[in-house]
Amino acid sequence: RGIGRFSTVAALEELISPPVQIGYTQNLINGKFVDAASGKTFPTIDPRTGEVIAHVAEGDAEDINRGVAAARKAFDEGPWPKMTAYERSRILLKFADLVEKHNDELAALETWNNGKPFEQASKAEVPMLARLFRYYAGWADKIHGLTVPTDGQHHIQTLHEPVGVAGQIIPWNFPLLMFAWKVGPALACGNTIVLKTAEQTPLTALYAAKLFQEAGLPPGVLNVVSGFGPTAGAALASHMDVDKLAFTGSTATGKIVLELAARSNLKPVTLELGGKSPFIVCEDADVDKAVELAHFALFFNQGQCCCAGSRTFVHERVYDEFLEKAKARATRRTVGDPFKKGIEQGPQIDEDQFQKVLGYIKSGIESNATLECGGDRLGSKGYFIQPTVFSNVQDDMLIAKEEIFGPVQSILKFKDLNEVIRRANATHYGLAAGVFTKSLDVANTLSRALRVGTVWVNCFDVFDAAIPFGGYKMSGIGREKGVYSLKNYLQVKAVVTPLSNPAWL
Ligand code: NAD
Repeated sequence: RGIGRFSTVAALEELISPPVQIGYTQNLINGKFVDAASGKTFPTIDPRTGEVIAHVAEGDAEDINRGVAAARKAFDEGPWPKMTAYERSRILLKFADLVEKHNDELAALETWNNGKPFEQASKAEVPMLARLFRYYAGWADKIHGLTVPTDGQHHIQTLHEPVGVAGQIIPWNFPLLMFAWKVGPALACGNTIVLKTAEQTPLTALYAAKLFQEAGLPPGVLNVVSGFGPTAGAALASHMDVDKLAFTGSTATGKIVLELAARSNLKPVTLELGGKSPFIVCEDADVDKAVELAHFALFFNQGQCCCAGSRTFVHERVYDEFLEKAKARATRRTVGDPFKKGIEQGPQIDEDQFQKVLGYIKSGIESNATLECGGDRLGSKGYFIQPTVFSNVQDDMLIAKEEIFGPVQSILKFKDLNEVIRRANATHYGLAAGVFTKSLDVANTLSRALRVGTVWVNCFDVFDAAIPFGGYKMSGIGREKGVYSLKNYLQVKAVVTPLSNPAWL
């Protein structure tokens, strides 16, 4: 079934991973791994097979209350915000060392629970986890206020203080990296945390939290609760004792948590939401390189990236050649057991996402886009989907408008720059864009005209710790990573004292 020939799901004997240890399945509250208050658990699965890996404590409002109480105490009384920034920085550095030491265990657990290729997790994502924490360790002792020009009568200074208890809700597509984007800056600034993981992928954050304890993080500073959105997540977003909320996930849920935050204590909220990013291939493009990059921009991480280049706009002069080569590239993509060497694509995260992606493929066919390759599941178990390419995609088709979050490339034709700018911007999203051209003028024009938080020119998915990331429009509020994310976790206090001898000014 489906169009094209695809590699089959690899046999499980060919694994390249080290033996995986699940490690921790209970909630981490006040430095201890504990069962859920209700005693309930929920299964977490292996997306390669749909089989249960482990049963995990199912946190709900009561566990969030306990986590927040621990975080509150650790903030108000505990050593963390009162420690010197240098001491905090050393704990973050120690954690980064432990991440490196446990690189392969963390990566294997990430692959097992999420389905992403082990080579991607072990060579890129876990090393990036360590790098992000080192980056924020570097910031910890460089955060300070200003002395403000005076009115002649007063000494005026600003103090940059931690916000307090941060509530953080993360998704399943990059469980460890999302942990790092949230926890790194919050800890560097001296906050305490209650983090709720995605229900699909609870395991690696618990493992990482254990490494933090080994690194010397005091109890209560980082609390991790597993559980579902409408119960645990909503309780965190609406908690009166949470001072700040950071969320990554869908735009629909982003709206819910923003409202919960507003209706409770008006806690400030940062949101990293969905996208429908354009990838624009200009007429002067080296087609082979453009095909490879556009392929990566969409298919990376099983297409499960908020910034995926999911609208491939190709100039009409290179369209036919691009299409043939894009189709050939997708057909060559190696799909299979993510623990196997050389595998580019593993399974989708779960049954829901699998069905949702297949539903979008059906919708593409029904709306008369041309199915060039793929279009069906791969194998008979787990959540593998054939790399799928649609051509002849029109702007008003569902597959060109909504976030598919799967391995489905939509190719659209354009004639001139003004047209592609208008069409690329004609979306409620504004997360990212890719531009492929040899012309500096075109690159500069597009970079400025596109209403998005990141423009990658002749590259894609470059995520250094120092590069800010976030969305325009309904793709979010605020920026994470880099120096910009510190501001999410700091309050600014003005301190004014009279000058007894203004003559000295
Ligand atoms: P989601 O928004 O439902 O889940 C993200 C996080 O929010 C999870 O931890 C979840 O438990 C929590 N959550 C869900 N409902 C909540 C509520 N009422 N209150 C508080 N927290 C709540 O996303 P999903 O169901 O995992 O995926 C659905 C879609 O979201 C995907 O198809 C994709 O379009 C998008 N998505 C985007 C990103 C991103 O990085 N921007 C990541 C994952 C998913």
